Amino acid sequence: MASVQLERVSKRFGSTHVIDEVSLSIDHGEFVVFVGPSGCGKSTLLRLIAGLESISDGDLMIGGKRVNELSPQERGVGMVFQSYALYPHMSVYENMAFGLKLGKASSESVAERVNETARILQLEALLERKPKALSGGQRQRVAMGRAIAREPDILLFDEPLSNLDASLRVQMRNEIARLHGRLGSTMVYVTHDQVEAMTLADKIVVLNKGHIEQVGSPRTLYERPASKFVASFIGSPS
Ligand code: ADP
Ligand code: MG
Repeated sequence: MASVQLERVSKRFGSTHVIDEVSLSIDHGEFVVFVGPSGCGKSTLLRLIAGLESISDGDLMIGGKRVNELSPQERGVGMVFQSYALYPHMSVYENMAFGLKLGKASSESVAERVNETARILQLEALLERKPKALSGGQRQRVAMGRAIAREPDILLFDEPLSNLDASLRVQMRNEIARLHGRLGSTMVYVTHDQVEAMTLADKIVVLNKGHIEQVGSPRTLYERPASKFVASFIGSPS
């Protein structure tokens, strides 16, 4: 059974078709990357999966269950955004604990999960700090920590590294790859950086104007792009 399955999913804002009958199957534990030019619908597609936007037409299944009408919390997904969206008045610890407390976990189990997450992301020494006392990379780690502390089956990332400088981006990219290996969760990752896509993805989905141009492994897309559009986007020679 697929982890996430989209069946002819469409999204309209008014009369504008932003996502047009997209069908896609994502396996458990798979790392899937959405790429495509600005405005092609990457974020919208991710937000449809997360439940932050409603689906206009089609079906979305998570773990075999239709979730079109379920809230983000009910879908078992965690999301990491480009802007870190941390609570400025809360410490790192509180930022990571917040969602867990809403989930009505006991305070011991909250502490256990936050500490384990902090260990995985090397945030242990920073738990008492406020976001403004953190570097960009540290803030992005906290944002990731907040998402993974809840142990979602599916992690969604929307250009999480695009606000970081180049060297930090490489470091965080490696961190995300390591996290994927360690957690084994399904990851869906939006980027416009083709190096990020090629190094992280098991499977790349190339989007263009709200539809899928091609789905395949990085190698397949590079060696056998289905169109000039894909070739130019992936940077392959053909
Ligand atoms: P990407 O992430 O690939 O850059 P988006 O998914 O953000 O693209 O946007 C796809 C298209 O949908 C764009 O043309 C954008 O203007 C439009 N769009 C996104 N969100 C909304 C909204 N809430 N209302 C109206 N149009 C939107
Ligand atoms: Mg976007």
